[in-house]
Amino acid sequence: MPISKNKRNKSGKSRTTLREHKKKGKILKPAFSQLESKLEGKLFHSNWTYDRLPEMIWAIIIRSAYSQELALQHFKKIISFIKNSPLRDQFKDISITSISELDTELREQLVKVITSDTHVAEALSILRLFPSLPAKETWYKYLPTTTPDINLLMLAVGKTLFHQTQEATDCRWLRIMVLVAANKIHIPIEIIKELLHYPNLGDQRSVRPMIRSLEMTFLVENKAWPTGFWKECWENTPCLALNELKQNSDKNNNDVNSVNLMHDQLIRHWKKTHDTTEIDAKHDCVFGIALYSLKLIRECIEGNVSSGILGRLSLRSLFENYVTLHYLITKNEDVLWKKWRKYGAGQAKLNALRFDENLTPPKYINQEILEIIASEDTWEEYLDIELGNWTNLDLRKLSIESNLKEFYDTYYSWTSGFAHGHWGVIREAEFTTCGNPLHRLHRIPQSIPLQNVSNDLELIFNKILDDLDITYSKFPYRLEL
Ligand SMILES: [Zn+2]
Repeated sequence: MPISKNKRNKSGKSRTTLREHKKKGKILKPAFSQLESKLEGKLFHSNWTYDRLPEMIWAIIIRSAYSQELALQHFKKIISFIKNSPLRDQFKDISITSISELDTELREQLVKVITSDTHVAEALSILRLFPSLPAKETWYKYLPTTTPDINLLMLAVGKTLFHQTQEATDCRWLRIMVLVAANKIHIPIEIIKELLHYPNLGDQRSVRPMIRSLEMTFLVENKAWPTGFWKECWENTPCLALNELKQNSDKNNNDVNSVNLMHDQLIRHWKKTHDTTEIDAKHDCVFGIALYSLKLIRECIEGNVSSGILGRLSLRSLFENYVTLHYLITKNEDVLWKKWRKYGAGQAKLNALRFDENLTPPKYINQEILEIIASEDTWEEYLDIELGNWTNLDLRKLSIESNLKEFYDTYYSWTSGFAHGHWGVIREAEFTTCGNPLHRLHRIPQSIPLQNVSNDLELIFNKILDDLDITYSKFPYRLEL
């Protein structure tokens, strides 16, 4: 699998780079995704967290109730009991479900060994919290009735939710050693020797991945206990929000003043450069886009939405304004300036006709103004209506044509998600992660202020001003928020 280990990313993460994804139609596929038909559904969630962790919960509690050294000593006692049992072939696994499936006498012997230490037995009294625990009568027989320590359970699960932590690996090692002791897996003696010395001797860098890859091949088939475990955790413990809600106060009077000042400067420059009352598509377009964009920014600041969804919609719109303007300025063809304008007028005509014929206009539509826009430049009988994009180029192609592809990749996709309401942006804006490990890091609703878009609005707007300055020179002012 070509997972990149080089330093071609800033985070230093080992991952398939975008370039290494395989393009299949309109889909970019990472290395492992090619196995998807075989694994579909199984990889959607981790089988460890969802299934194997609850099955190993007794060992996980012991591991957290003790130091690593003492926990492993206790584990070795259990392995040794199974290895020396005349009925060792009857042990299929060391999971909660497998233990419940043993004959009563053997099950009792095993649970007795597991709970043979007072400290362990007290810690394991947590199991009394779970009514769906299989063979609970056997466990109850050897567990004290002390009050279960819910904090220990949270700590233990928290430390093993991710399958590669030291604590999880220790418990996964126990599972493998039990399977070896019960003759359920056959591995070369040299490897067993290395496993026996865990975690002190041998090359742990190779032993640990070996334990993990071996252990993960033993999947849980019967999901009754894992399902019951997580259900009872959810029903009996509260959510804990990890993020405190911060007060969102974006509104800054200095920013409002900067926008007002910029508006005055633009209007003065408009007057200076406006030299004809003839239709001047280029002048109207350049100043129109700059003023419209400034209004977007004003609304973000005055409406205090720079850290909200509307701020992102504004950023998306501002970006599109800039690409359009930059494309027109790069080409600088009279026919294109006019085409852009005619397209807009044609859209006004299209809407005016629809509302004049069979559609009831929505409340926000001002039919009178649409009629005026539709016919003020050209008599409407001469005005075509374009149904596609105004240049027949989508925004991506416009960006490429005007040398803004990198800018497009930076700003377009995630802001568009906000316009379309994709899951990723909904997750960012309306959910947070619950801090209760017994809830498997699920998402809980919480409306969190997003990162402020002001700096990005300012950056793109000043690029619009750079273009304006190229076309109608001597405009040195830039927006500072
Ligand atoms: Zn929760």
